[in-house]
Amino acid sequence: MAAVFLVTLYEYSPLFYISVVSLCFLVTAAMVLGWFGFDVPVILRSSDETESILPTPEKLMVQVTNPFALEMGSGPASVTDGVSVRPCCLEPCVLSFFWGCKVRDLKGALQAHHHGPRLSTPQHFQQALQFCYRHYQSFHIGNEDREERHTQIPAEQGITDFGPLPRERYPLVAVLTLAEPEARDTYNIVASVTVIHVPDDKYSLSERVLFQYLLTSQGNMYELKPLFMSADSGVASVCPDSEQCTQPSEPNVEASRVEQGPVQEEDWSEGRGRDCVVCQNAAVNKVLLPCRHACVCDSCVLHFQHCPICRAFVLESFTLTQEPAAEQ
Ligand SMILES: [Zn+2]
Ligand SMILES: [Zn+2]
Repeated sequence: MAAVFLVTLYEYSPLFYISVVSLCFLVTAAMVLGWFGFDVPVILRSSDETESILPTPEKLMVQVTNPFALEMGSGPASVTDGVSVRPCCLEPCVLSFFWGCKVRDLKGALQAHHHGPRLSTPQHFQQALQFCYRHYQSFHIGNEDREERHTQIPAEQGITDFGPLPRERYPLVAVLTLAEPEARDTYNIVASVTVIHVPDDKYSLSERVLFQYLLTSQGNMYELKPLFMSADSGVASVCPDSEQCTQPSEPNVEASRVEQGPVQEEDWSEGRGRDCVVCQNAAVNKVLLPCRHACVCDSCVLHFQHCPICRAFVLESFTLTQEPAAEQ
């Protein structure tokens, strides 16, 4: 009966037709705008404002101290006359030189560190390299001993170059390992591997560090890269206090491999690095993972599931710690 009535109305009343269409429109609009609480309107509502935010899990991090540093020494370098390098280590170390080490063997050794027993002594490296190098020399380095060490292939071996390019051997690989077994348990980093180019008759590019790797006691390998910073705009943000900026920086200064860590750390530990991008009130103290943006403070991190900088989903976060690292 009602249906017949409705059909009659529909046939005879354009007003009814209009009101049905309007009702449909309103219901659709309400659903889209989220009045009914359905989960349709993902685009229109900010998901960061929903009540059901789970706090991002805190990732436990430890600060790692690198006991090794090695830089090129002064004076000329060549395959026939040898090379000087300057170590600077926090603990007594052994500096071993492998001349003419095969590229393939070094890669194999670094992979062996990951899969097999850790390479934490010169003997481990010798075995991992299968004794396939031209000359081996080692020095004992005391801590805070910054004296240059000179290494050279004995003249009687008659090696003056490592062949035409592309080469299958690195001219020189310098390895730093901790001398005392107790120290190996204290540090997460157990060895430093530096691949050095040494000029010879066939390839006269000046001596330089080609690659530098740090090996950890967990079997990981990290490559150290030179750190560059902008000469003009970076100065203001890197050192906000004028007394710190007494030295004008040169364009594209290659920061020393030894000094880059402490500079950054000082910036953060004073808590004056940057303000939280959300509240502009507290210092940035959280790093979001996996995007690694450091942009929010301790309290604001609780309100975000997406990074305020790049909108990446936040899986974890960790604190930019100010205390010295817990000893492992
Ligand atoms: Zn904040
Ligand atoms: Zn991000």
